[in-house]
Amino acid sequence: MQNASSKLTARAIDVIPGGVNSPVRAWKAVGGNPCFVNRARGAYLWDADDNCYVDLVCEWGPLIAGHAHPEVLRAVTEAATRGLGFGAPTAIEVQLAEHIVDAVPSIQKVRLVTSGTEATMTAIRIARAATKRDRIVKLAGCYHGHSDPLLVRAGSGAATFGIPDSAGVPAEISRLTSVAEYNDVHAMRAALEAGPPVAAVILEPIAANMGVVPPLPGYLEEVRRITQAAGALLIFDEVISGFRVARGGAQELYGISPDLTCLGKIVGGGLPVGAVGGRGELMDLLAPAGPVYQAGTLSGNPVACSAGLATLGLLTGEAYAALEKTSALLADGLRDAIASAGVHATVQRVGSLLTLFFGVDQVRNFTEASTSDTVAFARFFRAMIERGVYLPPSQFEAWFLSLAHGAAEVERIVEGARAALRA
Ligand SMILES: *Cc1c(COP(=O)(O)O)cnc(C)c1O
Repeated sequence: MQNASSKLTARAIDVIPGGVNSPVRAWKAVGGNPCFVNRARGAYLWDADDNCYVDLVCEWGPLIAGHAHPEVLRAVTEAATRGLGFGAPTAIEVQLAEHIVDAVPSIQKVRLVTSGTEATMTAIRIARAATKRDRIVKLAGCYHGHSDPLLVRAGSGAATFGIPDSAGVPAEISRLTSVAEYNDVHAMRAALEAGPPVAAVILEPIAANMGVVPPLPGYLEEVRRITQAAGALLIFDEVISGFRVARGGAQELYGISPDLTCLGKIVGGGLPVGAVGGRGELMDLLAPAGPVYQAGTLSGNPVACSAGLATLGLLTGEAYAALEKTSALLADGLRDAIASAGVHATVQRVGSLLTLFFGVDQVRNFTEASTSDTVAFARFFRAMIERGVYLPPSQFEAWFLSLAHGAAEVERIVEGARAALRA
């Protein structure tokens, strides 16, 4: 049934470390060989053996419009026809920057990069330059890409594989990163006070890399207040939540204004674009306007920017209403399936991001996430694959819905879940 994928896995392992180009793509946490994907359209993807699945990964977030959306394809094709890239400024970069500045409340200026990792790395550098301080604070279970200072208790793949700290990161660098528990104001205050002054606190305003963990009421407000009091910048990593939970991201949803915002995933519409933005005077610290160096051969690539811009153009008020409706339907269906199967599990959701956690009542932080039943999740994952539903292959990830998911897809997923939970 998965012969072609098995053969490709064997070939891949010979020439690519672990057979994949990003660790979470391997099915290490759930067992078995990953599906090699052949093609996808809308809410569905087909593997190398032509098995069809409803996709709840959606490229890990970028594909809010669904796979191969005709308008995105048209924009990409048109841009590519004019040339793949020039290493000189283009109008489309200005258009994408204008769109971001218009959409995201706290962003006055934005620098386009090629990944979320680059966005967070650059945000930290700007914060350190602006404050002339070195120490940063991050939260356990929040993932901000794979740069040295941010690979400390980092959730996502790092949590899945039980290696929250990477080999090869100098201890001198990790020492400049303090870690606090998510949703815990006292821990945040302690982290700010214990040690040298803090340049920045970086966090996911909706944590989505330890499974979906929403901020508790008042938490982000308090973090905003105490970072300001400490003279530290607040960086919202909205690489997942940006354009996902609202056009203006989590900062619009909760009405909080960070100093710097990191974007990625949806801003590239499926191609490599990241972005870091904030107040003009902070952003003008970047070269060539200011002394903070940052650069990229492929930054603002016109083909990638065209996919981002076309995707953002689809995100109207009605689009968010439709996403909310489909996602609520899915969450309700899953909760009902859990209750009728008598399984100990819970569904946490913000907009079109959700996670089904096994073996817990509620998850508010990484400590609680770590107590979830990953063995039960692995069994559920495999049962869902057999029923044609492609989930993220880890308990500690968000499921992503798209505009291409509707009532029919929700029914297929919920029916699959009913059978999988019973089994
Ligand atoms: C995916 C992700 C990143 C890293 O983005 P890449 O494009 O994979 O480098 C950073 N922060 C968050 C919150 C993410 O989910």
